[in-house]
Amino acid sequence: MKPHVVVLGGNFAGLGSAQKIRETCGDSVRITVIDRKNYLLFIPNIPAEVFEDRDPSKTLKMDIASALDEDGVEFLQAEIKAIDPDKRQVDFIPNERPGSAPDTITYDYLVVAVGNRLAYDKIEGFAEHGHTVSDFYYGNKLRHFLANDYKGGPIAVGSARFHQGDGTKDIKLYGGHAFPTAEAACEGPPVEVMLSMASWLGRHGKGGPNKITVFTPANLIAEDAGEEVVGKLLGIAGSMGFNYVNNSKDITRLTKDGIELASGKKIDAELKIVFPDWVPHDFMKGLPISDSEGFVVTDVTMRNPKYPNVLAAGDAAAITVPKLGGIGHAQCEIVAKQIAKDMGKMAADEADKPLEPVVYCIGDMGNNMAFYIRSNSWFGGPDQILTMGHIPFLLKMQYKNLFFKNKGKMPEWGLNASILLAEKLLAA
Ligand SMILES: Cc1cc2nc3c(=O)[nH]c(=O)nc-3n(C[C@H](O)[C@H](O)[C@H](O)COP(=O)(O)OP(=O)(O)OC[C@H]3O[C@@H](n4cnc5c(N)ncnc54)[C@H](O)[C@@H]3O)c2cc1C
Repeated sequence: MKPHVVVLGGNFAGLGSAQKIRETCGDSVRITVIDRKNYLLFIPNIPAEVFEDRDPSKTLKMDIASALDEDGVEFLQAEIKAIDPDKRQVDFIPNERPGSAPDTITYDYLVVAVGNRLAYDKIEGFAEHGHTVSDFYYGNKLRHFLANDYKGGPIAVGSARFHQGDGTKDIKLYGGHAFPTAEAACEGPPVEVMLSMASWLGRHGKGGPNKITVFTPANLIAEDAGEEVVGKLLGIAGSMGFNYVNNSKDITRLTKDGIELASGKKIDAELKIVFPDWVPHDFMKGLPISDSEGFVVTDVTMRNPKYPNVLAAGDAAAITVPKLGGIGHAQCEIVAKQIAKDMGKMAADEADKPLEPVVYCIGDMGNNMAFYIRSNSWFGGPDQILTMGHIPFLLKMQYKNLFFKNKGKMPEWGLNASILLAEKLLAA
């Protein structure tokens, strides 16, 4: 019997892991992916669709069963309920139709790629007064609010506090750099939203950047992009008229009139666009593979130290900080190489190359412009690149088109070409 690899989650990290495992291991393994939904939600482009008044559920959905089928990967549409690393088994409930009986699946290798719970339900007042852009439902809710209800009042954009857990405390990166601690899970989106919101205001004759306040629980917004990059971004944003509040600590509550912050400060706002804490799913908490919060503990080769046949990729992994798809993408390759090594398909020196995280982010700014960041300085690496303009916007849109066309398989040259275009051409 071929070893059975079960991949939990079928969005960026789950799909990417399954495809890379097939690529590196060939038909030496059987692969099954489990997800509660049968499509990929292309999250990073939701803000761009919303501010152009397009329904993201029509443009950003990709069928995963057919993508996996091309690689001979089985797909189960089911709600994952529990993992037992000692019995090597996962409990699930098929969820195509209500009323299905609980079932189990056993594995030789488990890849945990279930992302996190975006905990809007922990923010008091969010349901009544909050907006966001992290899925189709909320994206469309904001789209309708902007089209029908927004009266032109002040706008606040920012994040709740992130709780990183202790799963990264022993990890060293880039040859010995201690793992940094983040106070927000992912601050590319608030920066992107503040810039595109300002373009939207201008296009609709409703004002400009001075109506918008961006806030961060940290001392510096998007600090993982590197101090130099953020310094430049803040300089540009300040000269455009944006308001900035740092050290907000956390969001205490949203009200009709604004946002109350844990720092004691209050921001007046008619429109409140917020990003929550990224919290591990309940079934991940208290497991022997999880850290103090429920993120999967791994080493820099994405293997759990206590259960080396359990690997993780994407937002579910403790080592994925900030919670960025780009970092998850690199982890999918590492996961696949580790399993390929065990299958005798790859030499150890090639497979064991450690994760070297890079913040790689292209954020929409509206008006067919985008910012491009490639930085690893926060993790101890040497690079901090920021460019802005039409080319990064084209790259963002083309990345999505290529992703859909290739059903998630991104050629290596795609990334290299992006770096060349965004960094070299724009700098010329
Ligand atoms: C607005 C916004 C913009 C962003 N922009 C960027 C960007 O420009 N660049 C970038 O790199 N990153 C960006 N990110 C971050 C990026 O979206 C995430 O890092 C990425 O989606 C993580 O992928 P993942 O597969 O690990 O998790 P997810 O995408 O969260 O996928 C997890 C999967 O697991 C499934 N699942 C979860 N629980 C269960 C269960 N119990 N049973 C069955 N299935 C389950 C879910 O259905 C889902 O399909 C952005 C995030 C947001 C919110």
